[in-house]
Amino acid sequence: MTYTIGIDVGGTNVVAGLFDGDGVLLAKLKTPTEKSSGTEGFLDQLAGLARKLLSERGIAEGSLAAVGIGLPGFMNEKDGTVTAANLPLSGTPVAQLLSRKLGVPVAVQNDVRMIVYGETIRGAGAGYRHVLGLTLGTGMSAAFVTDGRIHTGAEGLAGEIGHVIMDGVQYTCGCGMTGCLETIASATGIARQAQDGLAAGRGGLLAERFPYPSSRGELTARDVWQAAVDGDDFALSIYRYTAEKLALALAPAVILLSPDVVIVGGGVAAAGDILFGPLREEVSRRVHPLYRERLRIVPGSLDDDAGLIGSAAYAQSLQSR
Ligand SMILES: [Zn+2]
Repeated sequence: MTYTIGIDVGGTNVVAGLFDGDGVLLAKLKTPTEKSSGTEGFLDQLAGLARKLLSERGIAEGSLAAVGIGLPGFMNEKDGTVTAANLPLSGTPVAQLLSRKLGVPVAVQNDVRMIVYGETIRGAGAGYRHVLGLTLGTGMSAAFVTDGRIHTGAEGLAGEIGHVIMDGVQYTCGCGMTGCLETIASATGIARQAQDGLAAGRGGLLAERFPYPSSRGELTARDVWQAAVDGDDFALSIYRYTAEKLALALAPAVILLSPDVVIVGGGVAAAGDILFGPLREEVSRRVHPLYRERLRIVPGSLDDDAGLIGSAAYAQSLQSR
């Protein structure tokens, strides 16, 4: 029996999972991301987690076939280096260095691609050939998997749909531009819209629950969702506006790629019909009936494990290719 390890690296935590040859998740470890001791310390942490997963189960290191890693960063496809603003990685050949430490092939991709790959192999996209996935979390990004392959595009730049400029949006994005879609369509963006509305004197349930300015900064996207579920007009209008802006980018993507299914993951996807209702409607009315009739926009089904599952499965797929 051979085993694969998937590692999902976030700015806050690292989660590593051990999978058997059939892709069954056997064990999982979670630990705060090591950022204080530089690149070497960070890579040692990843190698340490992999070794611990094996040793805790009494598995010899020689039985490990491959390791896959998803992390929030920019992959340079030409030289295999990774640069990540929130991690101690700057032009770092992560796969090569970690492969040397562990003695097995290591595959690295950005976290959103691994999540969408995971959903395609074992989640909401299983059985479909062409899967477009979005994640709406702190930020927003997309990935496209077609016939089991992740489409990375020239220079590995495919998928950064969160940085399409939206007319009328004045928020400054973390990327340095103004008006990016993710400043609206993300957990951060939804909370920000609510806070701005309260500052401008909007009434209703959110104003009662988070009196301005004493509760400033406390409100989250989940609170906006709760108020929307409770029937608050302002909260509902935020989700409607978010869905509208998202549809402006998603509709052309649907036409360009013609996916069998669009999967929406990340924390905001938990909003359910409050988000998916207006999103389906807004995308539908922007595309030709040929696309509309077969349009499927669904939430991810693997929750927090999507990245782990995707990373391990992706590493394994490169082995068998
Ligand atoms: Zn941006």
